[in-house]
Amino acid sequence: MTGCWSIHPDLANKPFAIAQRHLPAPQGPCVFCALAAEPVDAEGNIHNGDEMSHLAANGDHAFALENRWRPFEVGSGAQLVIARRHVTALEDLTVPELDEFLVLLLRLDARQRRRFERTLCFVNIGLEVNGTQPHLHGQVVSTDLAVEAPWSTNFLPESLDEDVTQAREAELVVDETAALVYCPWAPTASGEVRIVARDISRLARALHDALWRLRSVLGEFPYNLLVRDSPSLLAQIVPRLSAVGVLPDYFGLTVVTLPPDELARDLRRHPSAT
Ligand SMILES: [Zn+2]
Repeated sequence: MTGCWSIHPDLANKPFAIAQRHLPAPQGPCVFCALAAEPVDAEGNIHNGDEMSHLAANGDHAFALENRWRPFEVGSGAQLVIARRHVTALEDLTVPELDEFLVLLLRLDARQRRRFERTLCFVNIGLEVNGTQPHLHGQVVSTDLAVEAPWSTNFLPESLDEDVTQAREAELVVDETAALVYCPWAPTASGEVRIVARDISRLARALHDALWRLRSVLGEFPYNLLVRDSPSLLAQIVPRLSAVGVLPDYFGLTVVTLPPDELARDLRRHPSAT
């Protein structure tokens, strides 16, 4: 492990205010609603004006497009999972809708990991975290380039068991009804919540519940969600609470303005609003 965590309970909300979520202003009709309404041809393609997208996966509540908005080199992967309903955040989906959304994300993630050296599966909610469309979508991006992992994925999967053990000892568990929901003993960012689940159905229920608890505590916060199914089925909710992102990456520093024990206590006191 490199870098360090610096816990500043006295700085909670000050000077790093909890940022409320902003969404991009609508620029005409929603591009994803338009794609969701288009018919699919026999080859599994969706035609939208001059553009054609190949359907990578299809479901009642979500669908996935292949190679849209590729962030890396030609030949790299960029799968897009889109909710059929126009909602802005994961918690706005019903639990069955969220279940299917996660199934598609994880299915594409598993497929891309077999093809590429590096794959990242995530959802960005809010302009603050680069969520540039107001319609909920997730991304599975892959590359064979030797890129450095984003800060939020720098923790080692092997360290998960140890983190869970430490979190239990420090009373950071929020709920264990559907899955283990807890505040990490070693968070990757202030306010992080992790969910370890036995299956996707339980993950969807626990994630929905955790997001509504967080909204009760933090308001409509911007966040990244990261999901993976190896070595455990794991979701990381990473709220973006503060302006510490302006520090250069090489600082290797995470300023925790929301201590995990305080957050776990607040989340336990706020049952889901759903
Ligand atoms: Zn839409």
